[in-house]
Amino acid sequence: MKGREIFKLDGDKITRLRRHCPKCGDGYFLADHKDRLSCGKCGYTEFKKSGKDSIKSNDENKLNDNSK
Ligand SMILES: [Zn+2]
Repeated sequence: MKGREIFKLDGDKITRLRRHCPKCGDGYFLADHKDRLSCGKCGYTEFKKSGKDSIKSNDENKLNDNSK
């Protein structure tokens, strides 16, 4: 069982290859966030293709609603 888990994890790693920053070039990898990748050097941000752009807007609306 554990062996399988490790194998699965390894496969996941291979699937999502680390992207490097297009501005800073090779060697500067983008930090992996929940739904986006960002460069810690220049601040370049790349959103992951999840096809849920509307969710982001909803989140912002939520934050506004919280101001009671
Ligand atoms: Zn960069």
